[in-house]
Amino acid sequence: MGQLALEHITKEFGEGENHVVAVDDLDIEIEDGEFLILVGPSGCGKSTTLRMIAGLEQPTSGDIVLDGAPVTQRKPKDRNMAMVFQSYALYPHMTARENMSFGLKMTTEMPADEIDERVRNASELMGIEGLLEKKPGELSGGQQQRVALGRAIVRDPEVFLMDEPLSNLDAKLRTTMRTELQDLQQDLDVTTIYVTHDQTEAMTMGDRIAILNDGELQQIGTPAECYQEPANQFVAGFIGSPSMNFFDVALGGGELSTDDFAVTLPESIESALAGHNSEFVLGIRPEEILSGEEAVEHPDSFSVEVNVVEPLGDVTYLYTEFGGSEVTISVDRNTEIKPGDQVTIALPAAEIHVFDRE
Ligand code: ADP
Repeated sequence: MGQLALEHITKEFGEGENHVVAVDDLDIEIEDGEFLILVGPSGCGKSTTLRMIAGLEQPTSGDIVLDGAPVTQRKPKDRNMAMVFQSYALYPHMTARENMSFGLKMTTEMPADEIDERVRNASELMGIEGLLEKKPGELSGGQQQRVALGRAIVRDPEVFLMDEPLSNLDAKLRTTMRTELQDLQQDLDVTTIYVTHDQTEAMTMGDRIAILNDGELQQIGTPAECYQEPANQFVAGFIGSPSMNFFDVALGGGELSTDDFAVTLPESIESALAGHNSEFVLGIRPEEILSGEEAVEHPDSFSVEVNVVEPLGDVTYLYTEFGGSEVTISVDRNTEIKPGDQVTIALPAAEIHVFDRE
């Protein structure tokens, strides 16, 4: 089993001017076998959260509960969790085999032949059988990370904790390792909490993602839920690449409008917004803005000048400015639009997101 609950955990550091609330009343339940990604910008409290789960840091308040039992007061070695670090944290003077077996030798009474067996199985899983007699200095970054993962696997923990484990690898290897880690997690079926600041990693790897900002949970859900129904403007801007476009708009006459454009609202959205104040933020993703013929036929269409055209091979981005914002529009890769051209566009009401002004 590996059912984990973070019950209202808060972590504060320092006093007076140096006082920081690194994690603020975080309340999350993680299912047995689930792959949960903790994601957010640098300094949002991801590592502190992971370190509290591991027992490397004590919460100021709140509890960590594993399979129904509070483990908050337990030492790291008594929590049955294995942590994998960005820096690999291998012992440089030990071979890969020694690195993988050391923890079991030190903290358990396990017989040597069972430890050998576990190291053999984990090294097969990680494809590092041929590297077991080498020391970290003789291994590439990717190979060292495999050894570090192998070391976590031999412990047969209830929970894996991973702190940006792929961020020291080059882009290509990182992409392959993402898929491999996902497959491995599924095969092993061990509850995994994975920290990253990279929204692409979050979107592609986890069963669910928990998005943090300033120590506070912004949203938790499947990648699709967080993408399609962002809980607030922060999540909307953080998830998705290129980022969602935002405009300060006013509600009136059945429309959301700026000086440059208006979006006619269907009854359902209008009635949902009515009764609030009349100022909102309208968000729309670059790929949802209509252009070309589709836009011309749209009753809310308007014309903008394109500043920059960026062809990326599979898609082309137009950069422009209107409604008081810099705007990215995604168009067909075969477009013949050039900088300085006027293009007709429209923001379809069905694709907009509306947020309170912050
Ligand atoms: P992340 O992993 O998301 O980058 P951290 O959990 O490392 O964020 O840090 C969250 C906040 O807590 C930051 O403001 C950071 O400066 C602060 N912090 C983290 N560890 C300590 C510490 N040991 N002492 C004081 N402040 C800390």
